[in-house]
Amino acid sequence: MPAHRTRPAPRQERFAVLDPATGEPFDEAPDQRPDELDAIVARAHEAWRGWRADPAARTAALLAAADAVAAAEADLAPLLTREQGKPLAESAAEVARTAARMRYFARLDAGPRPIADGRPVRSEIRWRSLGPVAAIVPWNFPLQLASAKFAPALAAGNTMILKPSPFTPLSTRLLGSVVSAALPEDVLTIVTGHEPLGARLASHPGIRHVTFTGSVATGRAVAGGAAASLARVTLELGGNDAAVLLEDVDVERIADRLFWAAFRNCGQICMAVKRVYAPARLYSDVVEALAQRARTVVVGAGLDPDTQLGPVSNAPQLARVERYTARALADGGRAAAGGRRLDRPGYFHAPTILADVPADSPVVTEEQFGPVLPVLPYRDLDEAVEAANSTGFGLGGSVWGTDADLAETVAGRLECGTAWVNHHAELSLAQPFAGIKESGVGVAGGPWGLYGNLRPFVVHRLDGES
Ligand code: NAD
Repeated sequence: MPAHRTRPAPRQERFAVLDPATGEPFDEAPDQRPDELDAIVARAHEAWRGWRADPAARTAALLAAADAVAAAEADLAPLLTREQGKPLAESAAEVARTAARMRYFARLDAGPRPIADGRPVRSEIRWRSLGPVAAIVPWNFPLQLASAKFAPALAAGNTMILKPSPFTPLSTRLLGSVVSAALPEDVLTIVTGHEPLGARLASHPGIRHVTFTGSVATGRAVAGGAAASLARVTLELGGNDAAVLLEDVDVERIADRLFWAAFRNCGQICMAVKRVYAPARLYSDVVEALAQRARTVVVGAGLDPDTQLGPVSNAPQLARVERYTARALADGGRAAAGGRRLDRPGYFHAPTILADVPADSPVVTEEQFGPVLPVLPYRDLDEAVEAANSTGFGLGGSVWGTDADLAETVAGRLECGTAWVNHHAELSLAQPFAGIKESGVGVAGGPWGLYGNLRPFVVHRLDGES
């Protein structure tokens, strides 16, 4: 027997997964090696042959998988809370949205479309799948963002290899096994491990589309890696959304909505409100209304039913939030509420409202991605719109006021992909989701998300001349 046959298989390395509410490890996940990807991509390529061939069977399998995900909520939601930190009710809502997104894409149709241009030629676009797609996602909404990748990719007839963040591997692995049980083998594969696993996946020559959600810096690296094979690249990156409050805003009426638009998921949302611009006349009212909520919100472990705000998800993110806050205070800012990490085990940071922060402090110009919100005064609306548009990001933004028509007119001046009036960060499954500037490349969501996973194949037929 050849020597290599007698060698035992290498032991699968594992890494610890921490509970952010305690900072302690509670389980482990496989630390897969980048060289495992060759076989995984080859199997995904093989599975693609059957998966792309029968759209009706695909729809049925994806709908069955969506039902299985909804039915697994009691297992998925607590595991998500345990490794990510969010309150259990938000984890349950994330599971429900994951199943809803799968159903939405399973039912979308990308059948042939005629091209009517008046010529005596019958032209038709037939949409074709791409092949194995690589997805890389962050830790803030592990299940929702995984489904935002695999639901359109699989519905389009592709197969997928998906890598979650090493901070949240377990709920994604469980989701993968629930979904895969309803699908043919190797249609969806979850890989977990540390870098350079993601870098190798993004640059693998067998991958035809790389779809990434995460930070701007990593997005650049991913795009650079994918350039080697010229795979299609979709990037959903960071945001620094501004909320502009108008002179006629009813502060008490909007304060809860505005607060939660900034603090839900502990502020760890790409399109959370990350800066508030308030008219100078209302400035102290707005600061106080938000600070009062920050002081009274119940902070605790996500599994505790009383908790409204969980811990920050991981130690590096907590350090980042502390850094931005300390710098804002050193720059002359004032903490109207919070201002520091909480003195308890786990990664808890006090919900923080920052006033009087200079406009060039990094908590205003960059992305804090945590439970810290700067509020800035403005005197002139043009100045506020210019400030809202002044960062390198362009994901979302919102305008708040009693005259909703006026607010909508001002919202139209925001340079971003989605603008909201009197609310923020709510997306429809049917809408295109696309950041501009450094917030992204390509379009996800709605039919655009499906077509982003397809290529057009065009047939021109000259009738009556054969
Ligand atoms: P991150 O960029 O550090 O990591 C994202 C993913 O990339 C993780 O799975 C990580 O393991 C992987 N990764 C790290 N280095 C890599 C490399 N060199 N090559 C390939 N993959 C690599 O981001 P994060 O801290 O996990 O997430 C927070 C960021 O995600 C924020 O900037 C947030 O705004 C952004 N985000 C954007 C959206 C959106 O839809 N636009 C949604 C959610 C989060």
